[in-house]
Amino acid sequence: MKLVVGERTDKGRVREGNEDERLIDRRMDLYAVADGMGGHQAGEVASQTAIEALRAAVANGTSIRDAITQANEAVLERSAGDERLRGMGTTMTAATLAAGGTLLIGHVGDSRAYLVRDGELRQVTEDHSLVEEMVRGGELTPEQAEVHPQRSVITRALGIEPAVEVDMYPVELHDGDRILLCSDGLSGMVRTEDIAAILQREPDPQKAANKLVDAANKAGGEDNITVVILDVVADDSPAAAVLPERDGDRTAEEAPPSRRQRRRRLRGAGRIVRIALWVIPVVLVLALAFGAVGWYARRTYFVEVDRARVTVFKGVPGGLLGWDPTVEERTPIKAADLTEADRNDLEGGKRFSSREKADAFVDRLDQKIEDREAASATTTTTTTTVPPPPPPPA
Ligand code: MN
Repeated sequence: MKLVVGERTDKGRVREGNEDERLIDRRMDLYAVADGMGGHQAGEVASQTAIEALRAAVANGTSIRDAITQANEAVLERSAGDERLRGMGTTMTAATLAAGGTLLIGHVGDSRAYLVRDGELRQVTEDHSLVEEMVRGGELTPEQAEVHPQRSVITRALGIEPAVEVDMYPVELHDGDRILLCSDGLSGMVRTEDIAAILQREPDPQKAANKLVDAANKAGGEDNITVVILDVVADDSPAAAVLPERDGDRTAEEAPPSRRQRRRRLRGAGRIVRIALWVIPVVLVLALAFGAVGWYARRTYFVEVDRARVTVFKGVPGGLLGWDPTVEERTPIKAADLTEADRNDLEGGKRFSSREKADAFVDRLDQKIEDREAASATTTTTTTTVPPPPPPPA
């Protein structure tokens, strides 16, 4: 069997840099995702250091578990040698194809490995995160975990302590299996059923990787997003076949055409010209109509509550003929801080003819909240008792 790869990493729509790192090594059949953390680009250093150490260790014949342990040591050493990198760490989910068609997955942190088999998606790895531990302990439901404010707090990472426990998951691969490795920038933004739908509908691994990243960005792109897709194909399938080089050996199709074939081709060309003469105006009219709808659909703005925040969108609510609205700005204003009347007002999207007008509306909402907060603060002070006058000087 053979793995066909699709992959993409993207910084998302909120973060300034990309602290995620991925490894695609087709020669060693080694693939990994690392999600770094730590201020001032330290996260980037952590994930890169870990990936480089992993690759070097596997290239030296080290097992995937020991290679991840060595990656832990490499990150620790690096941060010990530089004050600015103190406290940096990274997740690591790494997969390598072993003999007999077994995929060995080694895992630390909250990046994930999924398996799609027979049209069903299942998560292979367990997150080492606070909320996952609370779910396992019965303190939270999985639904509560998805929106928990501390859902990105992880309980195990590389670069934090000298000893790290690496979870290992061997997966016996079947032809047609699809493996997804991803950082929490995907799993935290896109619902599992939507991830499953994209992986099931898009057969091309690269296009599927692009669609997953697009979906995470569409949902807000609040974190760096990294996706690696491995499709398991039989060695003799067309996707796996490497075409042999054939020098000077022309096939029948490539033989020079006879006079009769050339005449037929010319007549065919005449037909193509005639078809083009009426197809072109039809296509032009359709393109103009489509463009006009797009211009209309994308010219306006609306404000709506999305993911519990007041959000400015470009486009029309619900989209128009495939022109979907996009997030222009996710404001810090929480839906919970709005009055009920304002929340009702935003129901279904409040439309504006320009970005300035939408922004002015958001400013007014913000001002109202501040005014209300100031008013309640005043009420509190006026109801407190007046302190007794200071004692007269002796
Ligand atoms: Mn992340």
